[in-house]
Amino acid sequence: MSRKRMKLLVDSLTRSSKHFNKSEVECLVNLFDTLVAKASSHFAGAGFDRTVFRDTLHSAFGLTDEVMLDRVFSTFDRSNTGSITVVEWVEGLGVLLRGTLEEKMKYCFAIYDLNGDGYISREEMFQMLKNSLLIQPADEEPDEGVKDLVEIALKKMDYDHDGKLSFTDFEKAVREESLLLEAFGPCLPDIKSIIAFEQKVFRETPK
Ligand code: CA
Ligand code: CA
Repeated sequence: MSRKRMKLLVDSLTRSSKHFNKSEVECLVNLFDTLVAKASSHFAGAGFDRTVFRDTLHSAFGLTDEVMLDRVFSTFDRSNTGSITVVEWVEGLGVLLRGTLEEKMKYCFAIYDLNGDGYISREEMFQMLKNSLLIQPADEEPDEGVKDLVEIALKKMDYDHDGKLSFTDFEKAVREESLLLEAFGPCLPDIKSIIAFEQKVFRETPK
């Protein structure tokens, strides 16, 4: 990328970013370029693919749950092209690293609403909870325990009693009990890895 294009890109990203200053955006763009170089040539220039994304989030934030990582990818990949562009990268990291509670609630809800219909259904809860719990194959009826958990979650979070979670239900529940933000699977980095990531990536940034 030419110096001039880079400057224009950084300026425009800084204007649209709620969370990063100019030098931080520059660092994130540099990291983006490194990741694009790692990705398969098919995407070169435009973005990086799912594999690079998963490896990066795995090593940077310790997110290991495959199903959740796939959902995080889809949530970052707003344009649904199968690759992460620089705009999607900076926007997504804004939420992950420095998002407000409001932004994080929207993000987690989108992750958990697997089919994107605006609700977290019983089936979706079941699928995610089953995935995130390590079910012992020796258990006689492993699904029963998961079904119980789904009912407990609904009892706690389904305020309008329609058998599914709208964003309003989810928001209300999380505001009462912040741990429910990641009720259906880990999809946010913990504070330690956020600090480590920022120190590493933004190290040239004078604070
Ligand atoms: Ca849904
Ligand atoms: Ca509901």
